[in-house]
Amino acid sequence: MIVVLKPGVNNERQSQLIDWLKDLGLGVHISEGAFQTVLGLIGDTSKVDTDLIASLDIVDTVKRVTETFKCANRKFHPEDTVVEVGNVKIGGGNFCCIAGPCSVESEEQIVGIAKAVKAAGANMLRGGAFKPRTSPYDFQGLKAEGIELLKLARKETGLPIVTEIMNAADLDLFEDVDVLQVGARNTQNFDLLKVLGQTKKPILLKRGLAGTLKELLMSAEYIMANGNENVILCERGIRSYSDYLRNTLDLSAVPMLHELSHLPVVVDPSHATGMARMVPPMAVAAAAAGCDGLIIEVHNDPQHALCDGAQSIKPEDFAKLYKKVAAVREAVK
Ligand code: PEP
Ligand code: MN
Repeated sequence: MIVVLKPGVNNERQSQLIDWLKDLGLGVHISEGAFQTVLGLIGDTSKVDTDLIASLDIVDTVKRVTETFKCANRKFHPEDTVVEVGNVKIGGGNFCCIAGPCSVESEEQIVGIAKAVKAAGANMLRGGAFKPRTSPYDFQGLKAEGIELLKLARKETGLPIVTEIMNAADLDLFEDVDVLQVGARNTQNFDLLKVLGQTKKPILLKRGLAGTLKELLMSAEYIMANGNENVILCERGIRSYSDYLRNTLDLSAVPMLHELSHLPVVVDPSHATGMARMVPPMAVAAAAAGCDGLIIEVHNDPQHALCDGAQSIKPEDFAKLYKKVAAVREAVK
């Protein structure tokens, strides 16, 4: 249920109403807009008397919401959420470009790529330290050492770092990481999502391998309902009928997620296509679809990459891609 307050309601009256709603056993999500405050009531609202609430002089409107997701719902929070990562803003017209290798492999590799992508326009660095590999025999990531190398690359370049967490038990290792990525294989690892909800860290939440948009939003809801509103959604392709490509990039997810939710939406054309030469055209298409950012795999030596070399582009190609994306963003403004 949504309660929209009248403009200019004083804080004391607002707090009295919130306390009363909480006494009814409801969670209250408060969204302070530029003109009006919107209260999202979470929990069993079936016994709440909407007429009684609507009759209060500080209340503008009361609406019952049938959607299963509430915190992530645009109806509860009409304005775009802007997630802040250091000086970088994502959402509400702010574009982020996250670039870097699939996996951190060495100091030379990560620092070199970080410098190259920064020079080309990226404003965050990605790099996997804990890798979710299909085969247990494949490179599993440098783990804690990988995180240390990412921090070193951040020190050298000033780029905030984005890396995947697979297990809540590793959380302490991520204390100094700027954005925690939840990978497609863990989108519905609800215990992990609940733990991440108890942190204040920005979370880059990827769409599940065969996940629907509602499932993605419900996963965001797990994080947000536990107290962390810094969620960035990520479309990274889904399993469908692709034969030549790794996945199918669902670009219609971008405007649909923007309609349903106030959260920023980032697109990953690397995992979506699995093929380096498909990455630039799909990055440009994603920008045209109105995404709030991109996450792109860039490697200095894709042929020898320890993970996802086939879909990794070289720094010089990233620089060209970035220019095209900037031009497209300008054109569709
Ligand atoms: C990754 O970003 O390297 C990754 C494993 O992505 P996804 O979870 O989307 O497959
Ligand atoms: Mn990868």
